[in-house]
Amino acid sequence: MTIPISEGIGYEQVHTGQAPGYRGFGQPGEQGTRLLAGPRCESGPESLEGHLYRLGSLPDVASDRSRFIEMFSRSQLRGRGGSSFPLARKLEVATSVRGLPLVVVNGSESEPASRKDAVLLQLRPHLVLDGAVLLAQAAGAQEVIVVLHRGSINSQGSVEKAIAERSSLGMFGPRISVKVGPEHYVSGEASAVVRMLGGHDAKPSFNRKPAALFGVSGRPTLVQNVETLAHLALVARFGDEWFKTAGSARRPGSTLVTLAGGVCDPGVVLEVMAPVPIRELLISSAGVSNPPPGLLLGGYGGGTWLKGSLAWNLLLADEELIPHGASIGCGLVGVLPPGACGIIETARLINYLARESAGQCGPCVSGLPVLAQTMSSLAMGEASRRDIARMHRLAVSITGRGACRHPDGVIALLESTFAAFSDQVRFHLKGNACAGANHPGVFPIPSEDPVWR
Ligand code: SF4
Repeated sequence: MTIPISEGIGYEQVHTGQAPGYRGFGQPGEQGTRLLAGPRCESGPESLEGHLYRLGSLPDVASDRSRFIEMFSRSQLRGRGGSSFPLARKLEVATSVRGLPLVVVNGSESEPASRKDAVLLQLRPHLVLDGAVLLAQAAGAQEVIVVLHRGSINSQGSVEKAIAERSSLGMFGPRISVKVGPEHYVSGEASAVVRMLGGHDAKPSFNRKPAALFGVSGRPTLVQNVETLAHLALVARFGDEWFKTAGSARRPGSTLVTLAGGVCDPGVVLEVMAPVPIRELLISSAGVSNPPPGLLLGGYGGGTWLKGSLAWNLLLADEELIPHGASIGCGLVGVLPPGACGIIETARLINYLARESAGQCGPCVSGLPVLAQTMSSLAMGEASRRDIARMHRLAVSITGRGACRHPDGVIALLESTFAAFSDQVRFHLKGNACAGANHPGVFPIPSEDPVWR
């Protein structure tokens, strides 16, 4: 097998390739994409040989750490798991303290409707591992751990095969292993991942110190999302200026989004190269030809409902969404279809999120069940204005009081529901029968696992 040592033949495609009529977004294997460039879905995981032939070999970050650290900083790459925390800032913290650093690839992807990390792990595992190896070299780490949820069978198989391929080719670098954790919403939270790797329950930590400072067994630990690391692999190869030719000023680089809910192919993942009108994305890739009743952006917890008529005319860019209280977050674009009810759907989601808390602090133990119960009553037309006022007061009183941001995420979803579906709230408060009650649930909710709880 011959592996080119500089740029591979795919460089032009990744670098500039835009086919005539290119829409500004695409699926795996389509022209003009970056992270998803390469073979199409049907081909399965890209082999190491194909990956290196397409993109060229890994730059040697270890030989010039400071130059690459500066490049990563200039790229303004931020975490793509939803937190948007700058990668370079974490790296700076981890390299400023004593201790053997550790890199953790967080492939938990706890958002039930999001598929982008799974798509990368299953189709482009070497791109993700490249990013992890490069980050480890920049931090001086000798070890990388890929964390997956139990049940991510395809991702696990693809990553383990990729690790074996790298080892049989004699690629040197940090030791890479896979650790499988419980499949729960909060177990993908960074501090829960760190706790699990330290031999404890996968529950968010009360320790407020950042993992980059004091992580697994006290070691500086860089927990990074899968998509973030895939971007890093390309930044290191093609540079920060190239990286910033996609995306927007606030969110440089392309963005992976998952289309969910009332779309023709729920779970399809697209790479969006630059801010595109949301309506264009929905018309051409989701089979949605008119503004839907509502759009859920950014995930369940911490996600935001927008009125469909408003979202239809916005660009998918944080610059446009933030003034309306929304953001791209983890890249979930969820469509509430005609005939479904935003109140009933939110009641489903909030009941799920309340069940998924780790049950360690007051806001989750005594607050979320009450919010969930009140939303269920509203959905059934049984809540009074007084109940709703009490629920809002409770939401205010528990905001910011959890060890993690889980309760805050639930409250953000709740508050956006009342803003986006104010007419439906009034309708339900009158005790009217809602036709949406006959509509099946729109967004996926994993089944319960009583063992964990
Ligand atoms: S706020 Fe909730 S989810 Fe977060 S640590 Fe406390 S109990 Fe767990």
